This record gives sequence, structure tokens and C-alpha cells, in this order.
Amino acid sequence: MTETKRFGYKKPKFRMGNAIRDWKKGNLWEHIEPCYRVAPHVWNIGGNDDVASYLLDSGEGLMLIDTGYEKTLYLLVKNIYELGYKPTDIKKILLTHWHGDHSQGARLIQELAGGKENCEIWLSKEDEAMHLEKAEDDFPMPVLPYETTNFYSDDEPIKFGRFTIKTRLTPGHTLGCTSFFFEDTDEETGKTYLCAVHGGMGTGTMKPGNPMMESEKVTPEVAFRFVSDCIEMSKLPVDINMSSHLNQTNVDENMPEDLNDYTWFVTDYSWHDMMINRAEDVMAAWPEKYPDFKPTVPNVE
Ligand SMILES: [Zn+2]
Repeated sequence: MTETKRFGYKKPKFRMGNAIRDWKKGNLWEHIEPCYRVAPHVWNIGGNDDVASYLLDSGEGLMLIDTGYEKTLYLLVKNIYELGYKPTDIKKILLTHWHGDHSQGARLIQELAGGKENCEIWLSKEDEAMHLEKAEDDFPMPVLPYETTNFYSDDEPIKFGRFTIKTRLTPGHTLGCTSFFFEDTDEETGKTYLCAVHGGMGTGTMKPGNPMMESEKVTPEVAFRFVSDCIEMSKLPVDINMSSHLNQTNVDENMPEDLNDYTWFVTDYSWHDMMINRAEDVMAAWPEKYPDFKPTVPNVE
């Protein structure tokens, strides 16, 4: 039996992204993770220990939330085939934000999926501005060119097959970070789960003195909005917290023995704790704004 650890925020260990930036310290193949199911019709096919790429089977075609690194794309493609699908089944790529670790695969997957006519690439308008401005810039990491074909509108859910995906602009990690909320029903048990992906939990961009805060044009007001957004969203009854980076819910230590058993990921606390943990991490960086702040959700060890 796999030992149950707590699903919670864990400081990132040396992971895929670091290995890409610093070849001397690690090899990419040391960071491979299996494909695992997180909800009745959802799998993480990213294949690495850093950033998730969620495949959603709508019944009328596939959607992908984030695309991972160029260098791990072969794992993602392998996982698509092993699940019995083809890249040409992918009709929509939804990006949480413009950063390269989430978007490097976007154009490559779109090409494998049959090009623009067959596969859309979605992003927020706010992040598209940064994406265009930073296209040639390698900080914080290179972005491979891709063309955004569709923009999110929070009053207009993305409807595709069995899924109705509500988007929510959640700035902080970038100005245009977008979070996703949708229900997924298991036909065998009749149970419906509320699933959620937060668009960006990296808090460096919201800490005074961090170079990423300036480069992302994040103002103190945006950081404070991130805090209040997280506190508000922590109250949502999310059953399955699909973290965009594996460390945000300590997935590596929680990998289920049966990789097809998504019920392993159903909890009543993971989403709440991740929201509050990240809000508190930002609050700790602004003592003048939050003088009475005391942390309530510590990182897991
Ligand atoms: Zn990012």
C-alpha cells in the first residue's frame, strides 16, 4: 500500500525546470513521472516532476491545460498514445499563463494536432501582452513562439463536450494568470467532482525586491488582490485540486500505487490549504500591510 502523505505545499526540490536551466546539476531523465489519472476524465500527461499538463477527454475531443517544456514533450506525446488517443484529437490548448514552462509545447502540440484550423491556443488578454513583449526574452525562461487564437472571458465559460470550464482571472504570479473550474462526473459511480486548477501559485513575483516582480509589472495592489482572491477562493468546495506544479500539492510523495485511481486525489482540504498557504506566503512579505498576520497552513515536509 502506498503511504498516505499530506497533500500540501512543499518547497520545490531540484526538479525538471532546474535541470533544464543547470545541466551540470541534473539529467532530465531523472525527473520523469508516470502519467496518472486525477479525475474521471482527466490525466496529468506532462511526464515530469515539475509542471503539470492536464489532458481532459470531453467526449468530443481533447483539451490540454498547459503544455510543459519542449524538452519533455516526447513524454507528453507518448502518454497521449498510451492512453489510446492521438495528438490530432486535441482541439483546445488552455494556458494558465504565458511562462515557458507552461507554454513551450503549445505550438509544437498545435502542429501535431493538425495546425491552427484544428487546435486553438487560449490565453488571457493580459498575459498575451506580456507574451508578445517577452517573446524574445529568456527571463525567466525561453518561450517558444506560438500564436494565441482565443482569449478567455470570465462571463463566458468554455463549453466542450461533457465539460463547462469556468475561467477566473487570478493575477499575481503574472498579470494574466487564469484559473479553471469545472465539474467531472464518473458514469460508473454517478459521483460528480468539482475540479480546479489555479493559474499561478509562484509567489516570487509578489515579493518586494524580487526581480520577477518588476519584470512581470506586478504592483503591490496586484499582490494584495492575489491574497484576497486566494482567501475568497479557499471557500469553494473543490474536491480535486489539480495543482499546476507538482510540488504545490506534494504529488510526488503521494503518487498512488494504482495510477488509474483518481479517487486518491479527492480531498476536502487540499485546495483550501494551498490557497491559504500561498496567500500567507505573500502576506509574510508585506508586514506593513498585514501587521497581525500569523501563518495557519505551514508547508509540508
Ligand atoms: Zn510561471
